[in-house]
Amino acid sequence: MSELARFTRVAIDMDTCISCGACIEVCPYDALEFDENMKARLLWDKCQDDFSCIESCPVNCIYKVSEAPEELKKEKGGWYRFSRELTPEEMKAFEEWRQKYGVEVEPAQ
Ligand code: SF4
Ligand code: SF4
Repeated sequence: MSELARFTRVAIDMDTCISCGACIEVCPYDALEFDENMKARLLWDKCQDDFSCIESCPVNCIYKVSEAPEELKKEKGGWYRFSRELTPEEMKAFEEWRQKYGVEVEPAQ
């Protein structure tokens, strides 16, 4: 199993994000960035589950994916992308993660 398959990761409600940058500042793995609208976005392959970003968010719009609202996982896109092209094995891990947590939205480009 790929290393990448064992992480839960976080989902971000970008509608609620106020672009403060706290989560990006606190993440020890550089797994968060601002998107083109200055909303926080997860770099899926970099996240390693220490969850300090959740505590840092002043508007509580970051969730463990295992605890994220269903509409976020199914209908609200744009909250994650890959930082690089994944290997076939990593893509398999990604699909396993999506299935495990019911993430239907596609990664942003
Ligand atoms: S859970 Fe940890 S590694 Fe993942 S984005 Fe948040 S702070 Fe970064
Ligand atoms: S801490 Fe919350 S409000 Fe601030 S940039 Fe991150 S997700 Fe947005």
